[in-house]
This record gives sequence, C-alpha cells and structure tokens, in this order.
Amino acid sequence: MKRLTLSFDNGPFEGGTQAVLEALAERSLKSSFFLVGKQLTLPGARALAQQAKAEGHWIGNHTLSHDVPLGRGDAPNGHHVREIAGMDALLGNLKEAVPMFRPYAGKGILGQHVFSRCALELLRDTGHTVVLWNSVPRDWEQPADAWVARALADIDAQDWTAVVLHDRPNEAMTHLPRFLDEVLARGVEIRQDFPADCLPVVGGQQRNDTSALTGRN
Ligand SMILES: [Zn+2]
Repeated sequence: MKRLTLSFDNGPFEGGTQAVLEALAERSLKSSFFLVGKQLTLPGARALAQQAKAEGHWIGNHTLSHDVPLGRGDAPNGHHVREIAGMDALLGNLKEAVPMFRPYAGKGILGQHVFSRCALELLRDTGHTVVLWNSVPRDWEQPADAWVARALADIDAQDWTAVVLHDRPNEAMTHLPRFLDEVLARGVEIRQDFPADCLPVVGGQQRNDTSALTGRN
C-alpha cells in the first residue's frame, strides 16, 4: 500500500491554517505544521498553532526568520543558534517531546546550503529530529491547481511520499480537499509519521549521511 505524509510549512497563516485544519479534520487526518518565527509572532498566530496541536497535529521548528539557509557561507555569526534555538524558545510549549526541525532550503531544493556542521551539531545536541521531504509540488506556482497533479505524480512514483505544502490563505489550498479525496480514493494511506530516509537525525542521533546537505562552515 502506498503511503503519504502531509506537512504544511511557513505558517501559521490567518485564514489559511484554519482552512487546512478543517479539511484535515473532516477526513480524520493528522499532519505536521513546521512554523516560522516571524509568522508565529503575528496577532492570533499562536492560537492557531495551539489549535493545530490540540487537534493532534505535530508542531515543528522551521527557523526563526526563514531567510538565509543554515549552510550558506555568508550566514552571519551565530545565525544557526538564533534560527534553531531562538525558534525553539519561541515555540515553547508548542514543541513536541522530541523536538522536530525542518531546515529552510529555498524552494525545497536540497543541497550543501541546507546545513552547516555547527547547525547539525546543535540539532543533535538538543535532541532534535530533523524532518526532510521527498515531494515539493510547488504550490506557490500558477496555475494554482497545478500542484495537485505534481503531487499525485510523486505519489505514483514513490512508495512513501512526504509532501511539503503551505497553509497560506490562497487559491492553491482551495484544491486541498479535492487532492485529499483523490489520494484517499486511490487507496493511499495518509499517515502522520515520516519515512526513515527523510529523517537524517532522530532524537539527536545521526541516522543518515548528511554530507550532501552540509556546507563547510
Ligand atoms: Zn519554508
């Protein structure tokens, strides 16, 4: 049986997060929300994140500012500490018992800009699970429904797809209910946990090689 794990990045978003939560609740589905600090400090955003957590979704750290990838050579001193530990502090009681971290990659493209050695060391030392992905259907591109076909093609091509979507209040997510119904109609199991090859670090333990994702700094 094919499997799909959903995740929603860059929020919370007023309007968008509620719509996604509703679509998931109507189908009794659980997912993960990887939050960004600059969004979480907006009015009303923390209540949205708390609602997601209360409804059984997992909440993860997706950096404080979502601007410079951790492995970029020109990242300022202490950048990884602010982005990782600063966001963990902001998440506070929203964090999972084993804290989850998803790096900012820029359009979901994996490469040596994603981590620095210092960032990975900090993530291991603080017991994080690092959560990557194997499907980025580019739900930010027009036409706004084209991501659905791209995501379905990824599901066809893989045994277990971990998709990155964004719970923005835009037209793209109005196609989420149709996407979910199509996936379920195809007999794909939608589950909350992630495939092992998307988890290079689990609870602070290195599981997969990250050299292809790590810059020299
Ligand atoms: Zn992001």
